[in-house]
Amino acid sequence: MATAPLITLNPRPKPLKERRRPQDWRWQIRHAVTSSAGLAGALRLTERELEGARRAESAGFPISVTPYYLGLCDRDDPECPIRKQCVPDAREGETIAGDLVDPLGEVAHEVAPGLVQRYPDRVLLLATDRCAVYCRFCTRSRMVGNGGGAMPDERLAGALAYVRAHPEIRDVIVSGGDPLAMGTERIARLVGAVRAIPTVDTIRLATRVPVTLPMRITGELLRALRPFHPLWVMTHFNHPKELTRASLAACARLADAGFPVMNQTVLLRGINDDAATLEQLFRGLVRARVRPYYLLQTDPVRGTGHLRTPLSRGLEIMGTLQGRLTGIALPKFICDTPEGKGKVPLLPNYVVAQGEGRTTLRTFRGELVDYIDPPVLDQ
Ligand code: SF4
Repeated sequence: MATAPLITLNPRPKPLKERRRPQDWRWQIRHAVTSSAGLAGALRLTERELEGARRAESAGFPISVTPYYLGLCDRDDPECPIRKQCVPDAREGETIAGDLVDPLGEVAHEVAPGLVQRYPDRVLLLATDRCAVYCRFCTRSRMVGNGGGAMPDERLAGALAYVRAHPEIRDVIVSGGDPLAMGTERIARLVGAVRAIPTVDTIRLATRVPVTLPMRITGELLRALRPFHPLWVMTHFNHPKELTRASLAACARLADAGFPVMNQTVLLRGINDDAATLEQLFRGLVRARVRPYYLLQTDPVRGTGHLRTPLSRGLEIMGTLQGRLTGIALPKFICDTPEGKGKVPLLPNYVVAQGEGRTTLRTFRGELVDYIDPPVLDQ
């Protein structure tokens, strides 16, 4: 009997090591796209994007996009909300009224090497200038990606000495750049040194890797950091398209390992500045055990005018979401005031009138309701 020829559908499966590489965070960083030619090879760039990418390459804020995050971009649609966050635009070269190089006055508030203090009880430690992806709206575009890399030990020692000498500092936010773009040993050493300061209650890791490089949240990293709890993770999802299977799994790994995960969303024009998009994002985050913490008015960073909305847009969106979204899914809307004067929470105006012992409030349905104060009690 003649035997049928063997049909091999996948004659030469790739070696396991090779197949796994895109799942390796170091591979992702090594293969990040950092040039206009790289972006043009992956996406059909518009003239404005190409000009922006060439400008970024030569003089501006550099380019870096992990293959993972690039894979979320629509190849043909320049309006893609992921693409607009990571592909430069020629308008980054424009300066508009109110633009600042250092909108939060961090240079003026630097109290020790790489340590910024704007409030009495907390400090910001700028541990590195590297990130997996350079976001085009970044508040720290003045220093992010400028080649310094991780903070040298002697500078770190100076920053830690300051925290030790100021027991009123209870909260240390480790940021950068992205601290989780550093090697595991280095970040664990740094966090361990902060944790050894007895007056520090909480340490926060400000990181976008759950969004841009979710494979960085490895078992090895979690095992290295767990001894330093309470350790909070402040992450940064801006659009529901970023809630992929991989990023949700990264959030689950963090939550399972006992890290409270909070999210800061930046309100970005043409990306997420509508109530339906933000509702979808905030609901998705809560399902992933991530608390929507802040909706941030975009800081007036030089070259981001095309990505910013008027303040009134955020207030309008918050007005729409109030009452429609459960309280745990509703972040505070915050304007971080220019020159480092501090964060101001903003709310639509729900107080319609105030008189002697009586306040008229507007509910989320638009009804007017009086709240009557209790009588003044005799002492
Ligand atoms: S990850 Fe954070 S620090 Fe890095 S470019 Fe994006 S917003 Fe800036």
